[in-house]
Amino acid sequence: MICKKITELSGSESDQLLSRGKGLTDVGSAVDAILENVQKNGDQAILAYAKQFDKAELSTLEVTPDEVEEAIASLDSNLLKHLRQAAENIRRFHAAQLPKEIWYIEDTPGIVLGQKTIPLERVGCYVPGGRASYPSTVLMTALPAKVAGVSEVIVCTPPRADGTVHPLTLAACKIAGADKVFKTGGAQAIAGMAYGTKSIPSVDKIVGPGNVFVTYAKMKIRDYAEIDFPAGPSEVLIIADDFANPKMTAADILAQAEHDPNSVSILVTPSEKLAKAVLEEIEKQSETAQRKEIIEASLKNSAVLIAENMQECIDFSNKFGPEHLQIMTDPEVEDTVLNQIQNAGSVFIGNYAPVPAGDYASGTNHVLPTSGYVRMYSGLNTAHFLKSFTIQRISKEGLSEIKDAVIDLAETEGLFEHAEAIRKRFEE
Ligand code: NAD
Repeated sequence: MICKKITELSGSESDQLLSRGKGLTDVGSAVDAILENVQKNGDQAILAYAKQFDKAELSTLEVTPDEVEEAIASLDSNLLKHLRQAAENIRRFHAAQLPKEIWYIEDTPGIVLGQKTIPLERVGCYVPGGRASYPSTVLMTALPAKVAGVSEVIVCTPPRADGTVHPLTLAACKIAGADKVFKTGGAQAIAGMAYGTKSIPSVDKIVGPGNVFVTYAKMKIRDYAEIDFPAGPSEVLIIADDFANPKMTAADILAQAEHDPNSVSILVTPSEKLAKAVLEEIEKQSETAQRKEIIEASLKNSAVLIAENMQECIDFSNKFGPEHLQIMTDPEVEDTVLNQIQNAGSVFIGNYAPVPAGDYASGTNHVLPTSGYVRMYSGLNTAHFLKSFTIQRISKEGLSEIKDAVIDLAETEGLFEHAEAIRKRFEE
């Protein structure tokens, strides 16, 4: 773990922190071969990859309704209650994001302009399942799609070695209203949803996070399906001052680090005292962590950075563009910091707003752009499942208001029939 003043970071240390996620190109040729094989051989290729990568011997890919019911029956009722509580919060927050279905303005008399928003028809949700199970990701992807009104929502998730899917993932699919669930993960799942196979329908859009294989595959199939954005190994950047609690801060760093060896956690603080206390806590808490190996690998990409002042913390954060940004400062300065945030996927404010709250149950979405892509993408939200078209109704009186402008501009562009299409409407 790097621990030093921001001003003392070497060029290579700074590059390493800012250019995370660039490992994607390392998997390029492996993923290209998988995409090509699935496009050519469909289900057969996918079943073979399930055996190769997930150690699962499958004869079919689709989860049956009986499997879903058996999975739900096997779950503890309290766990199901908590899943429903999380689902309800996610449903309400995403319903609040729905735009007006249709709206019109009439600024020029006789020219009525409008916009209608409609849901996509078929969406594919990728739910990771390699190093951990992610029933929460079903709620974060399939549920907003259904809230938006998507008619067919399919879910792909890697099978476990015994050929089953985690029962809570299947319960989440049922609660979210997913229409079909397929046992496939990695690049082959993305290929299946993009190209379509005998069992997996091709979709209009693929959403959801995943490891480097999944993320690279999503970037490569965009001629076939739209994607949300690159959502790879998780990251957190914490801006904190002496108001923050070192134990909580260290716990938040480890919570992010346990996702993936490529995950990145950064604390930026003007307080040397906090930096030292957090480092001690990280060492203490990681001793007993269950996913110690992943955490140790991830901490190698991570850093505790000391800034001259709060402004330097904010500037570094904006340059880094974290997936998750925690602000644990004196409440007096929280808004000053927030108002200057330019690049962040989701912002968590205060000592009692840790990232896991948003990962599971507060209601916001946990599928967020990583690797600095927050510069140009927003985290997953209801709008990702919608598209819109514009509408115009124009009367003769309305057209006459813009007639001269259209004719003049069209003829200047050399598009004379455009001008004629207007003129003809005013000939007797
Ligand atoms: P995963 O489902 O993304 O990947 C598992 C699949 O990877 C396997 O089924 C296999 O097909 C494929 N694979 C593994 N090794 C391979 C190889 N050598 N060659 C080809 N394919 C291979 O699950 P995961 O690995 O646990 O990763 C989940 C990721 O999702 C983590 O990085 C986590 O941080 C991230 N995540 C991100 C967000 C976000 O919004 N950004 C949210 C949740 C999780």
